[in-house]
Amino acid sequence: MAIIGIDLGTTNSLAAYWSGGEVRLIPDETGEVLLPSVVSYQKETEEGFVVGAAAKEVFLAGDTQSVASFKRFMGTEKRYELGGKSYKAMELSALVLKRIKQQAEAYLKEEIEEAIVTVPAYFNDKQRSDTKKAAQIAGLRVERLINEPSAAALAYRLQYGNEDKSLLVFDFGGGTLDLSYVECFDNVIEIVAVAGDNYLGGDDIDQAVASYLCQENGVAWEALSKEERAAVLTGAEAGKRTLGMCHVPGFSPVFLDEDKLFELCMPLFAKIKQLFLRLLEDAGARISDVDDLIMVGGSSRLSVVKRFLTELLGKEPIVFPDTDQVVAIGAGAYAGIRGRKEEIQDLLLTDVCPFTLGVETFHRKQDEKGRLLPIIERNSTLPAARTQRLVTLHDYQTAVKVKIYQGEEYYAADNLLLGEVSIEVEPKKAGKEWVDVTFVYDINGILHVEIENAKGRRNQILLANQQLGERELERYQKELEALLVPPLQQEANQLLLKEAKAYYEQSTGAKREWLGNLMDWFVWNLGKGRLYTAKRAAEEMKRQLAWLAQTEEGREDWLFDGELKQEQALEWDDEE
Ligand code: ADP
Ligand code: MG
Repeated sequence: MAIIGIDLGTTNSLAAYWSGGEVRLIPDETGEVLLPSVVSYQKETEEGFVVGAAAKEVFLAGDTQSVASFKRFMGTEKRYELGGKSYKAMELSALVLKRIKQQAEAYLKEEIEEAIVTVPAYFNDKQRSDTKKAAQIAGLRVERLINEPSAAALAYRLQYGNEDKSLLVFDFGGGTLDLSYVECFDNVIEIVAVAGDNYLGGDDIDQAVASYLCQENGVAWEALSKEERAAVLTGAEAGKRTLGMCHVPGFSPVFLDEDKLFELCMPLFAKIKQLFLRLLEDAGARISDVDDLIMVGGSSRLSVVKRFLTELLGKEPIVFPDTDQVVAIGAGAYAGIRGRKEEIQDLLLTDVCPFTLGVETFHRKQDEKGRLLPIIERNSTLPAARTQRLVTLHDYQTAVKVKIYQGEEYYAADNLLLGEVSIEVEPKKAGKEWVDVTFVYDINGILHVEIENAKGRRNQILLANQQLGERELERYQKELEALLVPPLQQEANQLLLKEAKAYYEQSTGAKREWLGNLMDWFVWNLGKGRLYTAKRAAEEMKRQLAWLAQTEEGREDWLFDGELKQEQALEWDDEE
């Protein structure tokens, strides 16, 4: 019984597993590891469908009974007509996963018990739960989805070591671009912020090259038939990979060199640059804070993309040898952790919440539509816990009902309703009675909402995008509790504060002032909600206190040439 990791991609999917201290990819019977995420209806086959390279071939020839890139519509009701029936993206993905499961079982000669499946970091609950359903239909047990950038960071750490690092993961695939700012330290991989474009990928480069080929041949793209367009796109895709002469049946060959391709990609690069800036802003980071930029995804193989990023960054990015396998390698490593393989260190993957979670509130009685009050904001680090106090709206109301939503829209009802929970309250004048609502959201996609009235009575609801057994629930809750001690309340940090306070009490004048400043700075950093920031602040605090101890022992001077001698200025610049 094996556990495998699966990168279920928009363009290609592949699987990996952990064995003998390393990750191995799972090939099909021909030795190929990439499985095109393409499904084609072929009634003469046993199941009625072919999946992978054979399907891609007919799809590229313009076949109307074949579909690709359906991951873009995961979580939606969009339907694809195939062989007289209609299918959702989830069902088509199930066919891809089933194919992967068969390949893995044939290759490993054992049954696949469980799979770790990767998803884009920005996937919402519906998209995540549809991914799990797809796996279920395929006969795979999926307890945990991990984010593609976390998987990439994990692969990076296997390859380049476990030092503390701030990484920018640049994942450029066939249809999408995902940028993530990731901090790695100890056994933690923390996704700090994500940005991306669901409609920016290798396909767009193909399209730009295709337009160029048409232009050079004096034909209008719009005038081409479906089959002709497919042929031009195939020629364009091959052209961008190999550079040199691009051949399309019926066209005169067109020469494409790196400079020309760079020029054709300029509009895309401009968009990428914007996303980059937004990501850094969301992460509260500067380009110089990025230790390594790692390039992932098939389109990262293009030398023009590397050239563009090198210019943007002012230094060389790291390119994995096989950029399109990195996410699967990370998923395979995670499968090793899941299977409790000793050679691989246990790991805590933190994450960001890609969407805001909140509750409906009314500001005035006469408001017709409630607004969404954010409780856990988009891009908060997960696991996250926040409490918000709400007061009553009506005179003498006897209960408070809280509707829980996910999304960014102003009116609550325009967001995705996740559930509701209520509790009785003392009937009093409006605004005189209150409840506390606490949200706890973890990386398994489980949202725990608790509502507590003024008397301390509680009610709760657990919203999970999956079916959970009682034992699993219990385990998740234990894990959550351990993770959710805020840095300020952690014992080690409390001790540091206590030590600083003791010095403070003994001191006077400039020294006392400086110590007050030091404590403020420490508390301020611990309160930022960023694990790595908290860890670094604690290290700095230790250093400062050690130096203070030396001055106390008279081995160092507190004052130096009449000036306060400070080991190092504390960095206060606000990152928010
Ligand atoms: P996804 O994650 O979206 O499933 P991949 O990471 O597998 O996609 O990337 C697929 C994209 O990579 C396609 O647009 C393909 O044209 C492009 N690609 C693959 N190999 C190369 C290459 N050698 N040079 C340029 N582009 C490539
Ligand atoms: Mg991918």
